[in-house]
Amino acid sequence: MEYLAGIDDTDSAEGMCTTYLAYYIISKARNFRVKPFPRLVRLNPNIPFKTRGNASVCLDIVTDDPDKTFDELCGYVKELSDISHGANTGLVFVSKERVSHEFGEIYSRALRGVVNHRKIRKFLERKNIQHFTTGNGMGLVGASAAVGLDSEDITYELIAYRKRENWGKPRLIETNSVVEMDRSTFPFTFNNFDYEKGRVLIAPHGPDPVLFGIRGETPEILLKAFKMVKVQEPIDGYVIYISNQHTDAHLKYKIEKKSFSSGWIDGRVKNIKRITGGHIIIELDGTSFPAAVYSPTGDLLRIASSLMEGDKLRLYGGMRKPSKNHPMVLNVEKIQVLALKDKIYSNPLCPKCMHRMKSEGTGKGFECKKCGLKRKRKTLTKIERKLVPGIYLPSPRAHRHLTKPYARYINVGVFQQHEVGGAWFYKDQGQEKLQLPYQI
Ligand code: ATP
Repeated sequence: MEYLAGIDDTDSAEGMCTTYLAYYIISKARNFRVKPFPRLVRLNPNIPFKTRGNASVCLDIVTDDPDKTFDELCGYVKELSDISHGANTGLVFVSKERVSHEFGEIYSRALRGVVNHRKIRKFLERKNIQHFTTGNGMGLVGASAAVGLDSEDITYELIAYRKRENWGKPRLIETNSVVEMDRSTFPFTFNNFDYEKGRVLIAPHGPDPVLFGIRGETPEILLKAFKMVKVQEPIDGYVIYISNQHTDAHLKYKIEKKSFSSGWIDGRVKNIKRITGGHIIIELDGTSFPAAVYSPTGDLLRIASSLMEGDKLRLYGGMRKPSKNHPMVLNVEKIQVLALKDKIYSNPLCPKCMHRMKSEGTGKGFECKKCGLKRKRKTLTKIERKLVPGIYLPSPRAHRHLTKPYARYINVGVFQQHEVGGAWFYKDQGQEKLQLPYQI
């Protein structure tokens, strides 16, 4: 019998990590088998109650004894959840046949809004679906969403784990080997190295058990990349996850004007200004909230600084909660330039006096107040723009786990493992038009 086990909120800021629990379960399982590939599911990156990257996991389980399996899973969760530091763990265990469309809806809502965990608990109880919680059980949201993962577009991540005795110690990863790995596997792996800052991006910095994670299009390319990375400590083991990371899944829909929601808005630039700290505030016509592009976004800030009033944009991001001093703001994660203003109409310049003519009223033309010369129409001036329409992203160091990197726009397709028999097939995604950012 096949079951899905969604798990979330096992960790705290003090350490641990939900994916490590998945790794632990996979390596310890007694009464069941975990099929490749476990899911690593990222949810709304703009919610306040995440510890780090708002990750949950889901294991694809084969078992002859579901009750024994559920008990065993609960045992692992109790053993490894950081309950004393506030982990509100949720485990959802459901037979694959019973995964209804409601799970898909929970996934979709948990990606772009805030989901009430009490309602999820009620839903599971009503449907008589086995679940287990610690603390307030908020983890049931992520656990159910992971079960409902529904994504056309997928990526993979290979996560290597550290031996317990090394947790908390500095990670000794040879920088050159990461650069080499990046160069020989790009664009099929991505976000490995920040060339601007000379920084390795595959390793986290916290006390958690992850040594490094490499993200890419196929399990094969990840294995190739993994073999190229040189580290100065023994690796405990690794898991390849299937994931919605780097697919922009949270930015699919038009945004709701609600705190912490994610999505996009369209409009023409009505006003654009730079504020203290170098951040840029954009106001779009027809929108009741401003959008902010913050300086740590690097490349995105450079693009925003060359936008003009009248440019047509689609801005992607998440809604920041209003406070005493700030209104609700869209924190921008990606800019799509749809059309650029390339001409300006202005009152004509008098060729004799070089004075700007005055309008005589709507449809009545213009007159030079000095010499009386008249002109019928405004002057059209072409503006030279360096910017071109296209998609613009922050510098890689400012990417979120869900950010779709440039490498993935360039790829024409991704490989996916066929559900039956483990065969490989090629999935054509069509070629998206992309303009890489120009250098300013
Ligand atoms: P890590 O990345 O280290 O695994 P995390 O950032 O995933 O940590 P968690 O400790 O899992 O953080 O906490 C996130 C909590 O928020 C979980 O309880 C999860 O169920 C819940 N959650 C996730 N997305 C939503 C959402 N959209 N609405 C409401 N709750 C959510």
